[in-house]
Amino acid sequence: MSLAIVGWIAGPVLHAVKQGPFALRESVRVGPQALLGEVVRIHDEQIVVQVYEDTTGLRPGIEVHGDGQPLAIRLGPALLGRIFDGLLRPLSGTDSAFVQPGMRTAGALRRHFEPGVRAGERLAPGAVIGMAAAAAGEAGRAQRCLAPPDVSGIVETVMASGEYADDATVCSVRAGDGRLHELAMSHVWPVRTPRPVRRRVPTLAPLVTGQRILDCLFPVAQGGKAAIPGGFGTGKTVLLEALAKGCNADVIVYLGCGERGNEMAGVLDEFPKLTDPRSGRPLMERTVIIANTSNMPVAAREASIYCAITVAEYFRDQGLHVALMADSTSRWAEALREVSGRFGELPGEGGYPAYLSSRLADFYERAALVDTLGGDTGSVTVMGAISPPSGDFSEPVTSHTKRYVKAFWALDVKRAQARFYPAVHPLQSYAEDAREFAPWWAAQGNGQWLALRRRFLTLLDEQAQLERMARIIGKDALPPRQQLTLLCAELVNEAFLRQSAFSEIDRVCSPQRQAAMMRLLGRFVDLAEAALASGVEPERIAGIGCMRALQRMGEEIADDQLPRLAELEARLERDFAQLVPAAQATPAAAGSPTTEAPDAAHG
Ligand code: ADP
Ligand code: MG
Repeated sequence: MSLAIVGWIAGPVLHAVKQGPFALRESVRVGPQALLGEVVRIHDEQIVVQVYEDTTGLRPGIEVHGDGQPLAIRLGPALLGRIFDGLLRPLSGTDSAFVQPGMRTAGALRRHFEPGVRAGERLAPGAVIGMAAAAAGEAGRAQRCLAPPDVSGIVETVMASGEYADDATVCSVRAGDGRLHELAMSHVWPVRTPRPVRRRVPTLAPLVTGQRILDCLFPVAQGGKAAIPGGFGTGKTVLLEALAKGCNADVIVYLGCGERGNEMAGVLDEFPKLTDPRSGRPLMERTVIIANTSNMPVAAREASIYCAITVAEYFRDQGLHVALMADSTSRWAEALREVSGRFGELPGEGGYPAYLSSRLADFYERAALVDTLGGDTGSVTVMGAISPPSGDFSEPVTSHTKRYVKAFWALDVKRAQARFYPAVHPLQSYAEDAREFAPWWAAQGNGQWLALRRRFLTLLDEQAQLERMARIIGKDALPPRQQLTLLCAELVNEAFLRQSAFSEIDRVCSPQRQAAMMRLLGRFVDLAEAALASGVEPERIAGIGCMRALQRMGEEIADDQLPRLAELEARLERDFAQLVPAAQATPAAAGSPTTEAPDAAHG
């Protein structure tokens, strides 16, 4: 392998004089500890290397050795349930409690292999060669072992069912060019190269997050991308964690990227204790955590985002739906900025390098719903938090990210200060794909979803305008019709959009419960408008008997108690019937005015 001699070092960047050829993006080992690095520039005689580990103590004259391959990680059955650093080296598990300097990937773990192919069979790229389980009896939780995406040919040998190290050869394949490939339960893949797929397919289903404001107002596609911008303390981390616990993905990849160590400690401490509501087993069994806190070397943070998405793609290729949470992409961008500064590159907007935007694109573009090489359907949905300095959404990371995401969940400082959680701002947020999901919601029993969504958004928009007016002239001076609008908007906020991540009942809300709550509130608005039209004052509407039960229904009525929502609806009808003289009351079955709601800008 090629050699270079270090001449100049500044933090995570070093220059070395070449003694042989190097390739751009080649991974290298630096000095006696073989610290991990990557070639980022090549000049006539020199290479520039970014080092992913602490360079303290390195001095000119030490050697840099090329690996002859790009920065790559080992993908296999030993990923799930574990915690890694930004370069996918284990921070937990049985093999190592600590990352040692110069360590490459996870040490091999033993897994039970059950062959899925026979000698003589033709093996396509990305095909399943067998199943891997922690132990022989655990077939129910076995994972697929995939042939690497760049290997195909005729199977020559396959090992019998049994225990093997996850990097030991279990199958050999003769390629068309005569080369023999030895395949293990795991394989190595370069992190900056998207794993190939047969084709990307358009999504018609949302990722169900279990958060009402997201699923009902600002849904993200399964295989889509969402950004969560928010100032300090607005609830980004709590929301990402709630999504990790409650969304309907098969596998969760949680990337803690450069956030303060104590915040990451919260995640590391909490996740292993959580129970998966779907299976009753530990949530960690279908989770991979990649932790790269702010006290770890800055260049590793830049790489961690690619490691995380590569891990996500690997599970996607097994035909699984994967959700990747990144907290936060701003810390990643700051790492990019810091390293770029060390290269002496010309800073652009906000001091970030000019390629910030294309790097963000490289990351987000890897989210997709796909037909895998192996012939299954899988997806990676990416949700990235952004922490804009002083909450200013016009800064470069937020504004560039906006170009690549379809769902934008803007967290609002005022809402957070009022302890209104999740603090997603209903007017600053958007979801470009929302219309596409109407058929999906109809299949969940909510054929009115799009109309109700538009109606709620219109109410919230009107509320913002009326509140401005009310501040000037006083709320009581508003005409009754506008007072009613405020009343309805407040109820939508209180009863529907507010959802505590810490409530046993409400931290996750099933689509069926969301649909029932949405319909119930839509009915309230209809009845209230009809009551107003027949002369009932807004204060009397605000005072109906079931008001408090409505406001608290999210907290009090669980996913498995939907009949109680139906009872509440019956009570609502009775309360309004008492309010409105019988002759003028609208019958419950009358054509719902919902469908005639004005077409707001939210579409
Ligand atoms: P950020 O990551 O944006 O800095 P955090 O996620 O750490 O903010 O949230 C700060 C605090 O706000 C939390 O410790 C919690 O008390 C409160 N909080 C945030 N989101 C929620 C939520 N969905 N439900 C209840 N409390 C929340
Ligand atoms: Mg945070």
